Amino acid sequence: MSAAATPEGVKLAVAAAVDRLADELEQLSHRIHDTPELCFKEAQAHAWLTELLEKHGARVERGVGGLPTAFRATIAGAGAGPTVAILAEYDALPGIGHACGHNVIAAAGAGAGAALARALGALPYAGRIQVIGTPAEEGGAGKVRLMEAGVFRDVDAAMMIHGRCGTQVWRPSLGIIKVKAEFFGQAAHASSWPWRGVNALNAVIQLFLALDMLRQQLRPDSRVHGIISNGGAQPNIIPEYASAEFYLRALTTEECRELLRRFQACAEGSARATGCRVTVTPDPIVHEPLRPNATIAALFARNLELIDFPEDPDDGQAGYGSTDCGNVSQALPTIHPYIRISPDGVPAHSREFAEWARSPMARAGIRAGAKALAMTALDLLAAPDALREAKEEFSGKGGAR
Ligand SMILES: [Zn+2]
Ligand SMILES: [Zn+2]
Repeated sequence: MSAAATPEGVKLAVAAAVDRLADELEQLSHRIHDTPELCFKEAQAHAWLTELLEKHGARVERGVGGLPTAFRATIAGAGAGPTVAILAEYDALPGIGHACGHNVIAAAGAGAGAALARALGALPYAGRIQVIGTPAEEGGAGKVRLMEAGVFRDVDAAMMIHGRCGTQVWRPSLGIIKVKAEFFGQAAHASSWPWRGVNALNAVIQLFLALDMLRQQLRPDSRVHGIISNGGAQPNIIPEYASAEFYLRALTTEECRELLRRFQACAEGSARATGCRVTVTPDPIVHEPLRPNATIAALFARNLELIDFPEDPDDGQAGYGSTDCGNVSQALPTIHPYIRISPDGVPAHSREFAEWARSPMARAGIRAGAKALAMTALDLLAAPDALREAKEEFSGKGGAR
């Protein structure tokens, strides 16, 4: 066996292909960054990503799972075998653009697929690697929809990277229940007949106050945060309708459900206090917390060492976010490592982070992310024992949790 045909040689050949693609991947990342598209509307990102994967030799299916901006790109191997999926997100945030750096996720995920196809043509192992383009992470739970449509049915393991102000292979994420509270009162002239009105906005304000009191009794990792989505029409009308939307987050799905029970009580109390009627509507999709997979995480960490992109100690300065990748991780062995694309202490969803998401540091993150994803996917196909161990860990039959 020549050096290039050993598993290590194959991985190094793919890493070298990522280096050769680095300019192209950075340009793609910048294009997506400069054209922020919101959830389910990522038409241009979808076009550019599928074009890149096709150009370098992957077999591309557009609009999979009934979502026009989803895709699946397959790099086939030597015969039937397991499927390892690399996930790519590319949606932006309203008002603040790519402040979550999904352009980096897209370029790294598609870059991994392009480098695999470019360097190897077909994989030297049984099975296949897929890059799955997953729309609408910020608010649309695109991965949950793709799972429901069967896109993950034959996937044995999944992985993606997310940009952050530090490189950490494992960080927990919180579950979320999204909920809307609508209050119904009665309109009246706010100056001449205020005593004839029932003020729905007051009920919303009372709900925020009740939740702020509840906060003192919550676990440290739980989060309750909301916005007023309708606060009335204009000041001279007592608002007859007002609404607010909240995310209820906790480290476990059970705690999220407990938060929802307490939220309901706060909303009912606020309605009672103000004389309004209330409707509480939870979103049927529950975001689940990430479930760790130490087996795949260890392979990813080893690959970061091989490419000399070290993990950072967690400085403990930040709490946790959430991701629809959590639902994937509850269905099959999955990792969601973070790759440094900014200096320490820069919060995601800030304008500052959006700038770092198209910086030289982001370019380094794309290269490292693409390499480590491709190499880890290859590890799982090259050594069936590794994939079996990851699955046993997932099903609780072995491995460390
Ligand atoms: Zn985000
Ligand atoms: Zn994100």
